Amino acid sequence: MGEVISIINQKGGCGKTTTAVNLSTALALLDKKVLIIDLDPQGNATTGFGVQKSDLDFTIYSVLSGQNDMQEVIIPTMVEGLFLVPCNISLSGAEVELSREIGYHSILEEAVNEVKEFYDYIIIDVPPSLGILTLNALVASDSVIIPIQAEYYALEGMADLLKTMNLVDERLQSPSPIKGILMTLYDSRTRLGRDVHTEVKKFFGDKEHIFKTTIPRNVRLAEAPSYGKPCILYDQESTGTIAYIKLAQELVKMEEE
Ligand code: ADP
Ligand code: MG
Repeated sequence: MGEVISIINQKGGCGKTTTAVNLSTALALLDKKVLIIDLDPQGNATTGFGVQKSDLDFTIYSVLSGQNDMQEVIIPTMVEGLFLVPCNISLSGAEVELSREIGYHSILEEAVNEVKEFYDYIIIDVPPSLGILTLNALVASDSVIIPIQAEYYALEGMADLLKTMNLVDERLQSPSPIKGILMTLYDSRTRLGRDVHTEVKKFFGDKEHIFKTTIPRNVRLAEAPSYGKPCILYDQESTGTIAYIKLAQELVKMEEE
């Protein structure tokens, strides 16, 4: 059975999509079979793999709205062993529509369960909100990775996120423990970077795993999506590529321990 991991943080711009795209790719390059689900109506993970958002008929929206099975919307990517459930702006209506359904918080989980056995990892790119899509992601997940951008106010909103995760655990009996906290856009040479890292360690204490691997600020990571490729395929030598491969190795090693 595959492990379902949501990349989550309601803050925009903290590197969720970049992490989802490049971590999935790195895991596939480590010979894992991986599915990435784009759950953000902005569809940035979808375009990140060079898929045209506008002409998509089969998306995660068509699954959540009951028009398609998960199997029908999965498409291959240019990475061997890595498959994508794409998404586009059609998903933006889903919040309201889903809220009318009974058991609306477990619709994604049911869809994911259909295909879980075919993958080692299922990575969900979660939108920057604590709405119904995020609830669905939490219910569907076995664990979460929380990317935290190394900037002041990095931990703002973290209490709300943890509270939401707790509620899903308690009320819906669906715990998603934190697999790890990931420092992104991180520069250990700057005072700011080091300060935020210290703050994060203080906040989570020994309770949670903070990945040893940190993701540096690297312009190649930001450029790659405009070429419709994960950075790992766009520039193999870049510090961003190297960091995401290390992260994937760290993650796989955690499973083995
Ligand atoms: P989110 O999905 O959390 O909103 P993104 O992954 O889309 O965040 O990142 C926000 C912006 O920052 C994007 O333009 C992305 O290309 C860029 N970015 C993300 N991580 C890095 C990084 N480590 N170095 C440089 N740019 C990055
Ligand atoms: Mg995103």
